[in-house]
Amino acid sequence: MVIKNTAMKSANALFDLTGRTALVTGASSGLGWRFAEVLAANGANVVLAARRVERLESLKAAIEQSGGRAACVALDVTDQSAIPAAFDAAEAAFGPVDILINNAGLAVEAMLMDMSAEDWRKVLGTDLDGVFFVGQEAARRMSANGNGGSIVNIASAIAFKVGKTLGAYAAAKAGVVQLTKAMGLEFASSNIRVNAICPGYIETEINSDFFATERGQQMIQRTVPMKRLGDTQDLDGTLLLLASEAGAFITGTSIIVDGGLVL
Ligand code: NAD
Repeated sequence: MVIKNTAMKSANALFDLTGRTALVTGASSGLGWRFAEVLAANGANVVLAARRVERLESLKAAIEQSGGRAACVALDVTDQSAIPAAFDAAEAAFGPVDILINNAGLAVEAMLMDMSAEDWRKVLGTDLDGVFFVGQEAARRMSANGNGGSIVNIASAIAFKVGKTLGAYAAAKAGVVQLTKAMGLEFASSNIRVNAICPGYIETEINSDFFATERGQQMIQRTVPMKRLGDTQDLDGTLLLLASEAGAFITGTSIIVDGGLVL
C-alpha cells in the first residue's frame, strides 16, 4: 500500500480564494450580496453582476473598504446576447472567471390552474434558462482557457418539496438540481466542478416582513425542525466549500441548507 505524505493545510489555506475571479449574478440584493462579500473576504476578486449596475456601487464600495476587490457589470440573465459581454467585462477587470455563482432568481406565486403563460416563462426563463446559459458561457471559457473552475448554482429546498402557489418555481429549481448533475458529468473532463446549494427559508429583505407576521412565525414553527429562519451567514460555509479547493473532489451534488425543512 502506498501512503501519500500529503502536506497538511490550515482551514484558512484550504478555503482561500486569493487570486481567483468570481462572478455573482443577481448580486444587488439578498443572498447574492452576501455571497459576493464572503467570496471577497476570502480573497477572490468579485465581479458583481446585476441588471441595474448603479445598485451595485454601494456593495463594491463596501467590499473595497474591507480591503477586497470588486467590479460591476450589467447582466440580465434572461438576455442571452448580453452574457458574453458580461464575461468580457469581467475578464477585462480581473482576468478569466474561475468561480461562477448562478444566484439570480425570482418566484411568481400563482396556483397552477391560474398561472399565465407569461408568468410561467418568466420563472423558468430566469431560474432555469438563466442558470443554463450563464453556466454554459462560463464553462466554455473555463474549458477554452484550460484553467477549469467551479460553478455554484443556487437552487432551493423547494426543488425537493413542493408548496402551493410555487409550482413554477419548484419545477425550475428541481430542473437546476438535475442540470447541476448533467453539467457536473459533462464538464468534469474540463476540470470544471458544478454543484448547487438548496437553501430553505433564509431571511432577506424581501421576505423578512412576511416572516415577522403571525402566519410567518407559525410557518417556521410548523415546518422547520430547527424552528428558526436561516440567516444569510448560514450559507457561507457551503459556498466556500463548493467554490474552493476544499471541495476539489465534489461535483454534481446539491447541498440542502434548510434547518431540516425538507425532512
Ligand atoms: P432577491 O430577490 O433578493 O435576489 C434575487 C436577485 O436576482 C435580485 O437581485 C434580482 O434583481 C436578481 N434577478 C432577478 N432576475 C434577474 C435577471 N433576469 N437577471 C439578473 N438578475 C436578476 O432574493 P434572494 O432570496 O437573495 O434570492 C437569491 C437566490 O436564492 C434566488 O435564486 C432564489 O431563488 C434563491 N433562494 C432564496 C431563498 C430565500 O429564502 N431567500 C431560498 C431558496 C432559494
